[in-house]
Amino acid sequence: MTQRRLSLFGATGSVGQSTLDLVRRDGETWQVGVLSAHSDVAELAKLAKEFRPDVAVIADEARHTELKDALAGTGIETAAGADALVEAAQRPTDLVMAAIVGTAGLAPTMAALAAGYDVALANKEALVSAGALMMAVARTSGSTILPVDSEHNAIFQCLAGGRIDQVRRIILTASGGPFRTMSSADMAIVTPAQAVAHPNWSMGAKISVDSATMMNKGLELIEAHHLFPVGLDRIEILVHPQSVIHSLVEYIDCSTLAQLGSPDMRIPISSALAWPQRMATPCAPLDLASIARLDFEAPDEVRFPATALCRAAIAEGGARPAQLNAANEVAVAAFLAGRISFPAIVDTVRRVIDAAAPATPSSLQDIFSVDAASRAAAQQFVDQYEHA
Ligand code: NAD
Ligand code: MG
Repeated sequence: MTQRRLSLFGATGSVGQSTLDLVRRDGETWQVGVLSAHSDVAELAKLAKEFRPDVAVIADEARHTELKDALAGTGIETAAGADALVEAAQRPTDLVMAAIVGTAGLAPTMAALAAGYDVALANKEALVSAGALMMAVARTSGSTILPVDSEHNAIFQCLAGGRIDQVRRIILTASGGPFRTMSSADMAIVTPAQAVAHPNWSMGAKISVDSATMMNKGLELIEAHHLFPVGLDRIEILVHPQSVIHSLVEYIDCSTLAQLGSPDMRIPISSALAWPQRMATPCAPLDLASIARLDFEAPDEVRFPATALCRAAIAEGGARPAQLNAANEVAVAAFLAGRISFPAIVDTVRRVIDAAAPATPSSLQDIFSVDAASRAAAQQFVDQYEHA
């Protein structure tokens, strides 16, 4: 491949590290322009020394001096804070990897899209909060959004086999998470450690909890609705515990295309990095004979009400998905901090949505206001649970 520049946001995370693993193996191709992290200066500095970006950005401004000291004499520029992330996202590049977790990634991702750069999108919360705006900005600027989420990457690949107006159904597969077979009564007392222990994937803490509540699949339904405009009623969820089929597309002729692979994020990441080509990965090829069988079941929306909540939120549209996402981020953080129970996560989200007035955000600023108000509301419910 010809040389390409990569700006990587969320370099120290699970997706960020998997991305750098691929870049490291294909050093001839990639020139890293930007690396960013939230607060882990030591890891960011270590990665910066290895990958030699033009700029290393630490989101937590209080850590800037520490980062400057760590990179003194290297010639690598340093920057800090939310505005610096946006500025870094506007620097000329061939591809931006959006791998920050949460709506913290929204502003830099929008900046990259507005600048016309192609974006490999892992940061699903940005799309959930501001999907309509993001898609509109990408259309105007001509940016391509390359989905990194394994399901959406699978659908993106399957859509190469037909026309989107000839799709009958998109089937999003879900592992079901660590509590797939657990009763509601048992789920009431699970610990954060149990919730982040995903059976198939190794991921950051927030998305692991989202997988356990199935909120992740609901967020992915909203994500799919924006990325693949086939109509909400044509997007279904299917539980598939082995995580071998990453999603399916059924066409009007009843041909169903699926994308399969080992549950290793480096596969969808490589697909986004190399698109429209492919690149070799160190991932394990599928051994279907040893996997022997693939199982499927309908999702249980009684034990896992999050997906229905998400479907209702995107059907209503406007600010609802942003309210839902913000409330979920607060509730997941509270659960991880041991402040609320596992069922209280989805309850908090529902209560925030029920209490919030509908609104129609028309700018990024509007989305940030909705996000802030919903976080404050969620925090109040969290406090009530804690003191109940
Ligand atoms: P992670 O927690 O491992 O990493 C998150 C990254 O974001 C880190 O680099 C962190 O420093 C940075 N970050 C966190 N808060 C920030 C803030 N306020 N400002 C700036 N940077 C901040 O998360 P992850 O599992 O790598 O997930 C990243 C995104 O990719 C999420 O949106 C997730 O839903 C999505 N995703 C992840 C996986 C996976 O396998 N991990 C799969 C599909 C989608
Ligand atoms: Mg996924």
